[in-house]
Amino acid sequence: MFEAIEHWLERRHIQQMGFIRADWDAANADWPLLARYSETERDELFELSLRFLVHKVFASGRDFELTGPICLKVATMACVPILNLGLNWYDGWQTLILYEGDFRPQRPYRSEDGVTHAVGPGLSGEAWSRGPVILSWDAILHCGPHARSGKAGNVVIHELAHKLDMLNDGANGAPPMHAGMSAQHWHDVFAAAWQQLQALAALHHPMHHAVLPIDAYGLTNPAEFFAVCSETFFEAPHTLKQALPELYEQMCLFYRQDPAAAGV
Ligand SMILES: [Zn+2]
Repeated sequence: MFEAIEHWLERRHIQQMGFIRADWDAANADWPLLARYSETERDELFELSLRFLVHKVFASGRDFELTGPICLKVATMACVPILNLGLNWYDGWQTLILYEGDFRPQRPYRSEDGVTHAVGPGLSGEAWSRGPVILSWDAILHCGPHARSGKAGNVVIHELAHKLDMLNDGANGAPPMHAGMSAQHWHDVFAAAWQQLQALAALHHPMHHAVLPIDAYGLTNPAEFFAVCSETFFEAPHTLKQALPELYEQMCLFYRQDPAAAGV
């Protein structure tokens, strides 16, 4: 009974938003990876995006004007990783804050030279445990096979991957495993890939950005490694599969998708 009412309320909220499929198509027209999904899957993504908009709160950072197309696009990018997992994988937090450009967290920050600054460096995205996801619209506009770092990237998928990772013992690069998956095998595969890329980066220093299959930021720590591999998994699956086939296979099992199979 309660579920039926909840479902009815959700449908009513979706109707009140007034988005139609053509709005969704237009908002996502410049995101080529959607072409890898079948018409049925795109219908599911549209539906999931609307449900995401109903259940999450979009807030404007520094008076950035949030429009329908902006919210639809962010919701769609957020929903691609959970297309075959379900919206409940994003339970436990509610708010996305969008800034027009990069944002500066208002908290003390210690830079590499050991100096503590009152305010941190400009960021393109951030995800707080049980708190908001913060995103830069400018960084979202530069998502794709040649993101700002020069590698395939997607700041929305990156930050939402942190949210999935945090579901299991905080941000440590190991999201909850599905039945049939092995946490030990996941750890072994990711640790081996990590070492392989670290060796590659060291070998080619200082030109290592050019030879790595992922953005070098992924080699910061295991949590960033999972988040950056997730961006690459969706934005450049062939690159990831070719460079790290076992890691790619684990990502397929976790996300329940095989983006390289579609040929896009
Ligand atoms: Zn990150």
